[in-house]
Amino acid sequence: VVELEAVDKWYGDYHALRRVTLGVARGERVAICGPSGSGKSTLIRCVNGLERHQRGTIRVDGIALDAAGAGLAAVRRRTGMVFQNFNLFPHLTVLDNLTLGPIYAGGEPAAAAEARALALLDRVGIADQKDKFPGQISGGQQQRVAIARALMREPAVMLFDEPTSSLDPERVQEVLAVMEELAQAGMTMLVVTHEMGFMRRVADLVVFMDQGEIVEAAPPELFFTAPRTDRARAFLGQVM
Ligand code: ATP
Ligand code: MG
Repeated sequence: VVELEAVDKWYGDYHALRRVTLGVARGERVAICGPSGSGKSTLIRCVNGLERHQRGTIRVDGIALDAAGAGLAAVRRRTGMVFQNFNLFPHLTVLDNLTLGPIYAGGEPAAAAEARALALLDRVGIADQKDKFPGQISGGQQQRVAIARALMREPAVMLFDEPTSSLDPERVQEVLAVMEELAQAGMTMLVVTHEMGFMRRVADLVVFMDQGEIVEAAPPELFFTAPRTDRARAFLGQVM
């Protein structure tokens, strides 16, 4: 579903991604970890076209996101993105956060969009919060709204950028539980996270990045017990 081949990305003259090659097959879960500044967010933002890459190819669901930006709208429609800071519309209710895009940008009839939204809010366990505003619910609840909103697109892949790292510790598990349910339902997922337990339980592959490069890519049981490089060992020593 996601294919990156020899992708390079520069911010001005700063080389942020260096020949990154990575594939995520349908139904596969790939976790990305690595030190701050290693290019994890850049990689995920390039996959849905929030950032442009300059060299190499990125394909999502078979559609090329070439460096010039063709295919952008089509790729955006096929990806669901969840950020660290929820990024909900603060002046819209929970329900309207889900339905606004499909109704006004997608042309979906309001009743149909609402029915889908209610089903998704129920799936993430917050149907009873539908008439509240984001500021009136907890961070964990806001992040579950953000996940439900991303699912409204019926995406081919869900992209997560540190979805639990701005949550209070007691709220982390409720968001991870929703993500695990998605994984069990067969969703294709590319997740930047440092949650070791989540990676061990859910990820098919753990990708370790450092300085814009993919340094290692291995199943979690191998990566955590027998990292091959000093860079990965040093990183694991800090986070575990
Ligand atoms: P973190 O764990 O802190 O979120 P990260 O692995 O997600 O880090 P990125 O945000 O992808 O790292 O940043 C990679 C590098 O690119 C960093 O050195 C950062 O300063 C630089 N960078 C990121 N965004 C921009 C930008 N818009 N303009 C210039 N440089 C940027
Ligand atoms: Mg980041």
